[in-house]
Amino acid sequence: MSAKPMGPIPPGFAAQDGQLIIGGRTAGELSASASDTPLFVYDGAMVWKRIAALRAAMPAALSIHYAIKANPFAPLLAAMVGQIDGFDSASAGELEMALAAGMVSDRISFAGPGKRDGELETALAAGVTINLESESEAARAIAIADRLGTRPRLAVRVNPDFELKGSGMRMGGGAKPFGVDADRAAALARRVIDAGADWRGWHIFAGSQALDADAIIAAQAQTLALATRLSDDVAVSPPLVNLGGGFGVPYFPGEAELDIERIGAALGEALDMREPVLRNSAFALELGRWVVAEAGVYLTRVVDVKWSQGERFAIVDGGLHHQLAASGNFGTVIRRNYPLAIANRFGAPADEVPTTVVGCLCTPLDLLGAALALPAPEVGDLVAIFMAGAYGASASPSAFLGHEPAQELLL
Ligand SMILES: *Cc1c(COP(=O)(O)O)cnc(C)c1O
Repeated sequence: MSAKPMGPIPPGFAAQDGQLIIGGRTAGELSASASDTPLFVYDGAMVWKRIAALRAAMPAALSIHYAIKANPFAPLLAAMVGQIDGFDSASAGELEMALAAGMVSDRISFAGPGKRDGELETALAAGVTINLESESEAARAIAIADRLGTRPRLAVRVNPDFELKGSGMRMGGGAKPFGVDADRAAALARRVIDAGADWRGWHIFAGSQALDADAIIAAQAQTLALATRLSDDVAVSPPLVNLGGGFGVPYFPGEAELDIERIGAALGEALDMREPVLRNSAFALELGRWVVAEAGVYLTRVVDVKWSQGERFAIVDGGLHHQLAASGNFGTVIRRNYPLAIANRFGAPADEVPTTVVGCLCTPLDLLGAALALPAPEVGDLVAIFMAGAYGASASPSAFLGHEPAQELLL
């Protein structure tokens, strides 16, 4: 059996005496300090570097918001407060996390379909901006605000009439549970304004995980055009246009980093040429995975090495219950290999026989890496799965099969 390719190991991870270094410490030290594997390690310095690079590439006036659902680890959120301009939450739980982290309420937004009355009340009482997903949600939010005696901060989430091409998860263009269709958005904004609410503007999110700069540039141009058209229809300048995000990261073979410099230059030009109705508006991007994915490594230990019909399996103490995405069961159609390494022999040559790395769950879905070119694994080795900083611990079915949750560590 020949080896199958894996995604690119992110730059910035080096070896010292054959040991993978994360945030200046070896994987072995990190797993020992956490008392046991499996373990998610997040390198804070890498996150801050990403944010700085993004700010350098984007127009100076653009705000950068972080979508909490990518990684809600509390110490990470708390450390991020001084680095990022706002948090986007998608549930009352995430909203509480944003507040607990110390983000001020006027820099927090709350999006997502199916907000319950209690969640709307929490958001209204806290004074955060609610990104309205439907006309009926708007009516409920306004009624609850009336009862609370507070002036609601409401933005309208628009289901755009275009899509972000090449995105891994489409969230616009067609019938969608997200936002209000573009042809009804202006009427909803008008209703919100007439009800006396503090209308905060537009939220237009067209998709996720795009690696093609041209596709993002095109979607941003369409987003600005849509915001212009809608604002002209309402005849009010929106205080904020949330341009969405969709910046992808390379997980799989053949994928490469997004060219953010090109996106930033194009966005700068587009904003410079914006129409009068957007002249005094503020603009924001909301990014999740692009900010945090590469900074996270999932460390798990080889419990058993076995052979079946000439194929070698390394069985680890983690699995899809912590890192569902690496198993290919989180939003991918065709399973491909995430970048993965033996952390205590990082950079060592691969054995000629490939290794399939599986988790400890009793299901064939728990496949973490198929037929990988790795050094021959031994019991006790540490396996590092890269690109684990987003949609890892919190996006995996940790109750499945009754194992302990993974530990998490921010460096
Ligand atoms: C999920 C989500 C994000 C973050 O998406 P990433 O692909 O992680 O950048 C941002 N905004 C909204 C509205 C979302 O639903």
